Amino acid sequence: MGTAADSKAVWLDDAKIRNTLESCSREDVARIRDVLEKARELKGLSPADVAVLMGISSPELLSDLYLTAKAAKEEIYGNRIVLFAPLYISNLCSNECLYCAFRKSNKAVVRRALNKEEITEETKAILRQGHKRVLMVAGEAYPGSGISYVLDAIDAIYDAREDGSSIRRVNVNLAPLSVEDFRQLKNRNIGTFQLFQETYHRETYKQVHLSGPKSDLDWRASSFDRAMLAGIDDVGMGLLYGLYDWRYETLALMQHIAHLEDRFGVGCHTISVPRIEPAVGSDMASHPPHAISDKDFLKLVAILRLAVPYTGIIMSTRENANIRSLTLELGVSQISAGSRTNPGGYKESSQFEAAQFQLGDHRTLAEVVKDLGDHGFIPSFCTGCYRLGRTGKDFMDLAKPGLIKAKCAPNALSTFEEYLLDYATDEARLAGQGAIASTLNGMEDRTRRVSENLLAKVRSGQRDVYC
Ligand code: SAM
Ligand code: SF4
Repeated sequence: MGTAADSKAVWLDDAKIRNTLESCSREDVARIRDVLEKARELKGLSPADVAVLMGISSPELLSDLYLTAKAAKEEIYGNRIVLFAPLYISNLCSNECLYCAFRKSNKAVVRRALNKEEITEETKAILRQGHKRVLMVAGEAYPGSGISYVLDAIDAIYDAREDGSSIRRVNVNLAPLSVEDFRQLKNRNIGTFQLFQETYHRETYKQVHLSGPKSDLDWRASSFDRAMLAGIDDVGMGLLYGLYDWRYETLALMQHIAHLEDRFGVGCHTISVPRIEPAVGSDMASHPPHAISDKDFLKLVAILRLAVPYTGIIMSTRENANIRSLTLELGVSQISAGSRTNPGGYKESSQFEAAQFQLGDHRTLAEVVKDLGDHGFIPSFCTGCYRLGRTGKDFMDLAKPGLIKAKCAPNALSTFEEYLLDYATDEARLAGQGAIASTLNGMEDRTRRVSENLLAKVRSGQRDVYC
């Protein structure tokens, strides 16, 4: 049944956020130690706890925070890092977001909406890199009527074949929809519905979203309520860090998650933490009003890992290779790689004048895979949970007692082995298989047996095996 929360952010409480921030404004060593102790139980943190950790400034406490976050990530997910590629299908847009190159009035961007054949070609180019998971992205204006363009695009991505392989999970990052349209999206078998609130601060929201449907903060902030009413239970939240104070935004995000947990029994599946990057035709993107420093950004990632331990944290190629590596140590569990943010960018790599923002990490998927291995991580192309219906609350019910690792680890190894056999150079294959062998050695018996079983299937020529 619909409620006010389906169109209004009734849970967003500005006064409460400010009170919490004020009550924890200084570094309080004793409280910080207590909160870190509590965080080690992996049961999540309250907004006040989060605010206490935000107050950390001394190097010693910062290092405690980082170590606690790293241990939490390893305890829950092990050493796997899930990989995906964004697929921009269109940069048409009816909104005026001051930070974005796709905004309606920006004449500096070449406009393009890919047709079905072009989407197939882009998907094939992504498949040739070795990816199995795509995040489909579009501006908020679709050619044709309603959202049929988006629905057809999802079909085109799933239908594309390259050398017998196909995309196994399409996540989407799209504008807010009605419950009815969300139902149609759900019927297309999407994985996660991702939407970034950009800012929860009403005044700032108004200042940076000048016109178009996106100028309504409440319609955007109530999207996940409608998505969940339509049966989409994996939702991905995010903020555009740099628009307003990162501490305020993060506490508002906590309120949003708490609201979904209260109403639907499950919060968000992932959190993305984009920082504003330079974008063609946007002054604001070059001079973010509340730019968050690298130091605070790393602290933020570690705090999120502890605040919502079972939520995936996504780091995109907006960040450079160095920051991405550092955040992997602090709890990031999913990254994009080999990305393009212009429609058609995989096939025609020269079309950068249609891109949404400047990338910080230009490495190919192969280079990122190598780097992950060098740092002791296992690259994962797993799509197992979603394929087996382990979504929303079912996923969290497995994750919270610590059982998800027993699924993630074998699936990471089998999909990594697939990648090594089908896409890697001889040298990379050798290094990767070495990493697989040492990961197997460190596993407890049961998980190792499951992993070896899946690996044997892949080595004998089977593909797309998972548990
Ligand atoms: N148009 C839809 C919307 O705004 O929700 C979905 C796609 S939009 C292309 C995806 C996200 O890109 C936005 O939510 C925003 O957070 C991010 N973005 C926009 N401009 C950016 C910039 N200059 N730097 C980094 N991220 C940016
Ligand atoms: Fe359009 Fe999204 Fe860019 Fe805003 S952020 S201008 S809605 S593409």
